[in-house]
Amino acid sequence: ARTVRLILGDQLNPQHSWFATVDPQVVYLMMEVRQETNYVLHHAQKVISIFAAMRAMATELRADGHRVHYISIGQPESENAMVENIAKIVHSLAATHFEYQEPDEWRLDALLREYAAMAEASGTHASRMVSSEHFFTGRLETRQMFKHGKRWLMETMYRQMRVRHRVLLDSDGEPEGGQWNFDAENRKAWKGDPVEPIDFRPSHDHGVLWKEIQAAGVKTFGLPAANAIRWPVDRVEALQQLDGFIAHALPHFGDYQDAMSREAKRLFHSMLSFALNIKMLSPREVVARVESAWRSGGVPLPAAEGFIRQILGWREYVRGVYWAQMPGYESNNFLEHTADLPEWFWTGKTHMACMSAAITQSLEMAHAHHIQRLMVIGNFALLAGLNPTALHAWYLGIYIDAFEWVELPNTVGMSQFADAGGLATKPYVSSAAYIDRMGDYCSGCRYNKKLKTGADACPFNSLYWEFYERHTPKLGHNARIGMAYQQLKKMDPVTKEGLMEKARELRADLNRL
Ligand code: FAD
Repeated sequence: ARTVRLILGDQLNPQHSWFATVDPQVVYLMMEVRQETNYVLHHAQKVISIFAAMRAMATELRADGHRVHYISIGQPESENAMVENIAKIVHSLAATHFEYQEPDEWRLDALLREYAAMAEASGTHASRMVSSEHFFTGRLETRQMFKHGKRWLMETMYRQMRVRHRVLLDSDGEPEGGQWNFDAENRKAWKGDPVEPIDFRPSHDHGVLWKEIQAAGVKTFGLPAANAIRWPVDRVEALQQLDGFIAHALPHFGDYQDAMSREAKRLFHSMLSFALNIKMLSPREVVARVESAWRSGGVPLPAAEGFIRQILGWREYVRGVYWAQMPGYESNNFLEHTADLPEWFWTGKTHMACMSAAITQSLEMAHAHHIQRLMVIGNFALLAGLNPTALHAWYLGIYIDAFEWVELPNTVGMSQFADAGGLATKPYVSSAAYIDRMGDYCSGCRYNKKLKTGADACPFNSLYWEFYERHTPKLGHNARIGMAYQQLKKMDPVTKEGLMEKARELRADLNRL
């Protein structure tokens, strides 16, 4: 029986059990299609890097003796819907079976499920979905964990995962170091010492591929930087990047996890999200390598634990939230925010130094680290009342690691509180003080971080108070933000009205900022 097996652009795991044996009756189908380049406006580096990695994987599979049918972006078939191409290939090969790995995105899952059901019903061929063999948890496992009204908490799941997978446990099954979570120790600002490690990622000239993408008329944004793209194309490169990270950055990851600096854009982050999300690297191997780096004495426990929590905890947890909430999660808008994204979200040209730095960096590198995404860009968006669905499209397009299953809960849930606190226990907002404490953006900014009103006042300051004030009916009872509401209550009416007026004036014309 001849079988067609689909490999999606974010399923580039050459270690999948599919590839353990070479079977001439199996044809692997990979395609660069407009359906995938167009569902949102993507950063140029994202399209280039995914296609480059897909091509590298096809080459590797062929070298190992597998049969691969590859549709590239320049071919007319790239204009077809994905399922149309599948049907054609299955038909032309007279295949009796179609197999695919579970898609991570609800949209593709629904499309392929529907296609499989139709093919089955019409007797064309049999279909089967198999595991992608990537995550620690199954799609609906997290929902099971939190059934019967149990409160959804990342920490609860994380501890269970530590126990189940025996990660950072001592011989009695207790957490190493006597505590599960060292987050409180991970909040230092960075003053230039230790120095930022060298960039341990590869560099590629993808100029030819970029020309092909452009010739096909694919629309993108952000700087292509096609002659020096720093994202890995295969496992060898991804593993080298992992090694570089563990040796040079991980020892300081914990301390400076929340730090921001205009001088150091990567700081001590791994930049591994791309390799992980397209499944070039397995989260299990990353966690195991980090744990063994700690066991061999090269890395402090808070750094190893902090990093492992991001992968074993947060990454799995947000995936669980996604599958528990889809479809429909993308249109959540608890706070009824409707403002358009300011034009400078597409250029970085704003006078706010922090926003300008974070957006410009995102446009240049297709990457910003977590605190820039959450406490600068997301913070502003929430305070300013930007439409969370539009913001979701922006985040989904701009970041190299943006795939809906991980981007959507982070944006709509964690960062915009649009799911009414399903993911975050309180809105992640701050005034200028936090941004100034954690980074160096405020010095040299056109706005004054200390001022709340007047032409030079940092917009974050008045927006912060007006955000709480205008959402009193929805947030006023949240015990975790009781302090802010107490302060608002104590504020003298004239000061308060000045802040409200200033914020309303700012929100009336966000493009001006
Ligand atoms: P590191 O700081 O080195 O962290 C290591 C790894 O932990 C990451 O590679 C990632 O796999 C995982 N991780 C860390 N935080 C999270 C998190 N909150 N959720 C899931 N995994 C996490 N991450 C994405 O992978 N894709 C996205 O589209 C995405 N969108 C985001 C949108 C917003 C608004 C926010 C606040 C966060 C988003 N994140 C997203 C989470 C996080 O910011 C990125 O995973 C991280 O910045 C990637 O860079 P890194 O590999 O250097 O991460």
